[in-house]
Amino acid sequence: MQDETFSAKRPPSVGFVSLGCPKALVDSERILTQLKVEGYNVSASYEGADLIVVNTCGFIDSAVQESLDAIGEAMHANGKVIVTGCLGAKNGNEGKELITSLHPKVLAVTGPHATEEVMQAVHIHLPKPHDPFIDLVPDHGVKLTPKHYAYLKISEGCNHRCTFCIIPSMRGDLVSRPIGEVIREAESLKKSGVKELLVVSQDTSAYGVDLKYRTDFVNGRPVKTQFQQLAEELGELGIWVRMHYVYPYPHVDRVVPLMAEGKILPYLDIPFQHSHPDVLKRMKRPASGERNIERIRAWRETCPDITLRSTFITGFPGETEDEFKHLLDFIEEAQLDRVGVFAYSPVDGAVANALDNPVPEEVKEERRARLMELQEKISLSRNEAKLGKVMQVLVDETDEEGIVARSKADAPEIDGNVFIPMPENPTQQPKPGDFINVLIDDCDEHDLWGRIV
Ligand code: SF4
Repeated sequence: MQDETFSAKRPPSVGFVSLGCPKALVDSERILTQLKVEGYNVSASYEGADLIVVNTCGFIDSAVQESLDAIGEAMHANGKVIVTGCLGAKNGNEGKELITSLHPKVLAVTGPHATEEVMQAVHIHLPKPHDPFIDLVPDHGVKLTPKHYAYLKISEGCNHRCTFCIIPSMRGDLVSRPIGEVIREAESLKKSGVKELLVVSQDTSAYGVDLKYRTDFVNGRPVKTQFQQLAEELGELGIWVRMHYVYPYPHVDRVVPLMAEGKILPYLDIPFQHSHPDVLKRMKRPASGERNIERIRAWRETCPDITLRSTFITGFPGETEDEFKHLLDFIEEAQLDRVGVFAYSPVDGAVANALDNPVPEEVKEERRARLMELQEKISLSRNEAKLGKVMQVLVDETDEEGIVARSKADAPEIDGNVFIPMPENPTQQPKPGDFINVLIDDCDEHDLWGRIV
């Protein structure tokens, strides 16, 4: 006979809304994992949930608005809402006050990276269930990305004080996770079927500085908590490992040979933001004194297949036409593969807002358009150089019509795709997470097209 008490008792259910960048996504995964570990159900809708957690973003005005709207929607649909994430810590108490003034009935507000605080608030308003049958959760936790790739957050916070950025005031100084813990998480993700790890943090190249590169243990071996050692250890896993948010410090040169050996992906996401030394000084950018063109040349000599992605800001306060031309020359010479360009937009609370000589909106935009136009030609010619080549790609999605995949040069969400027709023979049809070899036969400045070989 069925046990009536067990079948009638529904586990308490928490709805979850996750906004913001990959780092916020990792926070969401941690909270979701903890909820699962403690036996809560995670609900896909507001209505089915006993309580909602909203993970917010507070970086730019539109993200703040999106976060406030999401809180309002959850309050309206459900009424029991806990708010976490960057908006809750924006400009000291300001973000929290903004949330509580608009939504005075929210149950709690925390900043980012606050799994424990969020769980405490959940426990107060929705006591945790005690049921051994639902206390099971996979080793690798709960992931919000597709099964075959995962973000690996190696640290939180940042020691720099770039004048356009308020992340350190929201997330605090750099706190690195010991390397043993990071590698254990990476191994468990691999065991769960992950084929690609995306290493994220605010400043990946500074990994371990706060711990003075302390030695930790990886499978019983002493290993330093440091960027190069991290790349070497991850390189032993035999899956794709992609490095994001790396600054051009001299020690970064030492991981490029690992890329040439195929240990980690030949890909560097390296946000230069500008090229002119005076602008970089006004921005207070890390590693701004490095001779980046020479560095790029040397990286390409060591690893000819390296893909370089970067972001730039046009119209930073005080940027003169000459300084902007310096940037155009840099872009022309650097021949980067992928570039994101943003017209400077003042962020509430950023030091740069007080700098002299703000650039008029139309000039910022016009410079952005000029830079994009130049980069599109470069990106196109870099993609054209891939025509006729066979490359390994990782399948992200499939349907009857075709396959959407990514090459080693493409990070999910931010770079291009490789589009491939689906073979008719069912035995040759790949699934998401499969690696296949593709002959590239067409391209534009973002994407590639090819067929399975
Ligand atoms: S390096 Fe600069 S832009 Fe990046 S998080 Fe730190 S302060 Fe912000």
